[in-house]
Amino acid sequence: MKFCRICNIEKPLIKFATRKSAKDGRRNECKLCTNKKHKMYRDTPEQKKKKKERRKKTYCVEYYRIYRKNNIQKIRKSANKWAKNNKEYRSHMQKKREVLKRQSSLYGYEDEIKNIYINRPPGHHVDHIIPLNHKDVCRLHVPWNLQYLPAIENLKKSNKLCQ
Ligand SMILES: [Zn+2]
Repeated sequence: MKFCRICNIEKPLIKFATRKSAKDGRRNECKLCTNKKHKMYRDTPEQKKKKKERRKKTYCVEYYRIYRKNNIQKIRKSANKWAKNNKEYRSHMQKKREVLKRQSSLYGYEDEIKNIYINRPPGHHVDHIIPLNHKDVCRLHVPWNLQYLPAIENLKKSNKLCQ
């Protein structure tokens, strides 16, 4: 049993969240009070605004997904047009990427990597967890740096390092 610092009610230890650094391994506030505190924090205007923005962002992604679904012909057409007008640039980028992959490969993992690409679930891209193109980190085109990511997530991620 332990007294909660906030509501001053004696409660069994299980009603307190764990905290490794504490003597008894539990927080000084009961779970109920912690929840209340968090709820109060979430209800501040600042946090409400943040929440709204987050929602707006996901809405945008969803909106684009639907737009894409309904206008796939139009989008394909303009993508093809772009590709036609930028043939040289495209082949330049493709070559650059191939060279990058070759430079980043480790000898002996070709088959494993090939399998990762072959077993890719539909609608997913093979993503480099640490981007191949990132300037600060060593480039790795190796099995343990590959993961499946829904296509849209991969496009969003681009070359950013994950948080
Ligand atoms: Zn309490």
